[in-house]
Amino acid sequence: MFFHAHPDDEALLTAGTMAKLAAEGHRVVLVVATAGERGLAEMEPGEALGETRLKELYTSAALLGCARVECLGYGDSGLSPKGGVADERPDNAFIDADTEAAAKALAEILLEEKADLLTIYDPAGGYGHPDHVQVHRVGRRAAKIAGTEIVLEATVNRDPLVRLLRLAGRFYRFPPEFDVRTFESAYSPGETITHRVNVRRYTKQKRASMAAHASQASGGDSDRTLAVMLKVPRPLYRLVFGTEWYVRRDLPPGARLSHPFDGWPK
Ligand SMILES: [Zn+2]
Repeated sequence: MFFHAHPDDEALLTAGTMAKLAAEGHRVVLVVATAGERGLAEMEPGEALGETRLKELYTSAALLGCARVECLGYGDSGLSPKGGVADERPDNAFIDADTEAAAKALAEILLEEKADLLTIYDPAGGYGHPDHVQVHRVGRRAAKIAGTEIVLEATVNRDPLVRLLRLAGRFYRFPPEFDVRTFESAYSPGETITHRVNVRRYTKQKRASMAAHASQASGGDSDRTLAVMLKVPRPLYRLVFGTEWYVRRDLPPGARLSHPFDGWPK
């Protein structure tokens, strides 16, 4: 089971792993906490955007071979223009949700599916979106309640990412709002990562999954990671998106494992 905050997070962080596991015959389930109705898009934030983004999510999930998609139905907490928690939030914003209640809702699906593995985010929520931090808290607690044995924190190895972005910046003009420096303190340093999953065979599906989230690839004027990622030149794509990274806290930091089920409880 792959737990994400908003539609399109699965495309950026875990799409290759999802496609790989589905191709190997695993039942892959995608759960999002919110419909992403406050995402940056040409459409106004609100219910209609949420509906559009859920439709995009179903398309993406189908491309990746998911057997089931669920939305917990929390409100997208949004992001303040400076990053961090927005002052104005919907009443049912995911960050204001009771962690225990949200964890129980997720645990119910984990139990129904008899899930062996749950992916969440690192404690910093990757680049720090409050809903992503909440995914970490709620996901960790849900796995405890349901007794899910493997919890993987989806992250990005920031070391090669920063190197590649700097290199790409020499011959490719990033939009002005895209600041490579924000990646220098985001996600996880290489030495803490336990799983490096090779998803090169699935980069086509991963790109298709990103493209399915069309509302997030256009419009808006600040940090639009997806739009930038889709502009990565094709030859670089396999290099940039050919690996997905996870931290499993009950294994020694830096264990060099390559499959999500490596390190499976003995
Ligand atoms: Zn997100």
